[in-house]
Amino acid sequence: MDLLLSEKVAVVTGASSGIGAATARSLARAGAAVTLAARRQGRLDALRDEIEAEGGRALAVPTDVTRREEVEAMVDRAVEAFGPVDILVNNAGVMPLSPLRAGRVEEWERMVDVNVKGVLYGIAAVLPQMLDGGGGHIVNVGSVAGRRPFPGGTVYSATKFAVRAISAGIHKELSAGEKIRVTDIEPGVVDTELPAGIEHGPSREGFEGRWTGRRMLEPGDVADAILFAVTAPDRVNVNEILVRPTDQDT
Ligand code: NDP
Repeated sequence: MDLLLSEKVAVVTGASSGIGAATARSLARAGAAVTLAARRQGRLDALRDEIEAEGGRALAVPTDVTRREEVEAMVDRAVEAFGPVDILVNNAGVMPLSPLRAGRVEEWERMVDVNVKGVLYGIAAVLPQMLDGGGGHIVNVGSVAGRRPFPGGTVYSATKFAVRAISAGIHKELSAGEKIRVTDIEPGVVDTELPAGIEHGPSREGFEGRWTGRRMLEPGDVADAILFAVTAPDRVNVNEILVRPTDQDT
């Protein structure tokens, strides 16, 4: 069967759960060879086995995106296994919400390290080959929080504003000239493990309380948006997709 991404090589960070796992599945079903990167090896191995059982191609590479050398080594392994990377999905992220006055500076640092530096390390690792190979597609998973901050989410939001700025900068520097497409995916609330990382009690309870009885997006809804962007014809550069749950009014 002639699949839309059958010649393509993709890397997905944060592929061990949520949006990343759903995206890896959907890219593999569309024919891409997918490298799965995150820290939890057991989850990655299980997803690789699942993709292979469906006839897809996948490689699991345990990676901490806050370590530049691990990101570079992961991309090297992807290239060895499948060839130059056509699509990078920079999805790994953390969201330990808390108000600024709680002073949880280590959590702020972790958000900057994963959500911003991790994205930059991914870009640095694939850019030389995309420049040499005549193009590629970088998908950054930002957030609706990258358009407006919210109480308790100031630093998280700042990281997602940064992701949006990086995406816009890639467009300015690299799209028309170098044929590198870029998409900033901006989901509203998605039903994933992300809030489990909120260690500040009142922030976690506040988040859970707001969403009791309301329908969130499912990870596959965001994967569908990513698939739309990466399967568009080469002449089409889908730069931003903002997708909220119908029940979200913020
Ligand atoms: P999950 O918690 O389900 O997934 C987060 C992923 O990031 C996991 O695979 C985790 O893997 C990975 N990750 C975290 N830290 C690291 C690290 N240091 N190195 C490598 N991988 C890491 O949440 P989501 O699927 O919701 O989150 C995916 C992205 O979507 C994030 O960027 C998030 O900010 C964004 N987003 C989520 C929304 C939501 O409501 N859920 C809304 C808008 C945006 P592991 O722990 O195995 O390393």
